[in-house]
Amino acid sequence: MPSRFPFEPLTLGAGQATENLGGRVRIGVIEGRAVFVAGDSFADVGEVSGGAVRADARVMFEQWNEIVDVHRRCVRGDFRELGGSVLENPLQAPRQVFAVGANYRRHIEEAGAHLPERPLVFTKFPSCLTGPTSPVELSSENVDWEVELVAVVGARADHVPPGRGWEYVSALTGGQDITDRVMQFDGGYPQFSLSKSLRTFGPVGPVLVTPDEFENPDDLALGCALNGRTQQAARTSDLVFSVPVLVEYLSSLCTLYPGDVIFTGTPSGVGAFMNPPRFLRPGDELISWVEGIGQLENRAVPVSVQAATTVPAVGGVWAGIGS
Ligand code: ZN
Repeated sequence: MPSRFPFEPLTLGAGQATENLGGRVRIGVIEGRAVFVAGDSFADVGEVSGGAVRADARVMFEQWNEIVDVHRRCVRGDFRELGGSVLENPLQAPRQVFAVGANYRRHIEEAGAHLPERPLVFTKFPSCLTGPTSPVELSSENVDWEVELVAVVGARADHVPPGRGWEYVSALTGGQDITDRVMQFDGGYPQFSLSKSLRTFGPVGPVLVTPDEFENPDDLALGCALNGRTQQAARTSDLVFSVPVLVEYLSSLCTLYPGDVIFTGTPSGVGAFMNPPRFLRPGDELISWVEGIGQLENRAVPVSVQAATTVPAVGGVWAGIGS
């Protein structure tokens, strides 16, 4: 079993209590609050800033630069053990969640298809986003996995000039673009957005990492394993349309806002194209990773049926209509 947090912890020597930690900026969310994560410990952004920065995860992309600045002031004493705390969905209030299909070169060429001339874009509804260790609810017997690098927009963006897309990305994280394949292709016409937006169909995390933390943010390993067996393994250098190009393209058509999300596409190895096809079954454990970011662990479970909407008792206004 791979460790839950494979990224390297900060190494803290004795006597560093008042020194700058100089560690990597990794931001997660615990109980709705933005936190710095280091190994198996975390520090509350609001507390470290002395209240100068709001820790509310729903607004953290509006003050991202301030949060990254606060990280420089972290000292060892600010951190406490994760213990039973759970890292939650770090993307809590995006206005828009874009996703891209057919975007890994090797995967398309293997399928004998031609490379797309422009990005194939669809949306995932924000309500499907869920945490890095949250369960994935199986809406049918045809629910599939798609590991993806996920980019988060850092500033309002309109018509970003070629070559400047990275300047508008505040963070990278990992994600799964879970898909109900029957819903996607049944009914005569394919539909992407709904079939990829059912409850729990968007695990993301475990943390947000600023692009400048990577030696080369355009060449990251990513993959996923089902019950310990690797299903997908690729590098983002194989993307047809890279992260900055996607930002430039989308911003030429739509206004992008801080906190908006872009799922950048998945490489080969999804269940629908296996022979025979293999889809998620209750109890399956799906582990997904992106180099330098960490891993998601999502267990497949049956759909949880919520209590039905309360039906008004017969009487009152209804009795009047019926009479
Ligand atoms: Zn996808």
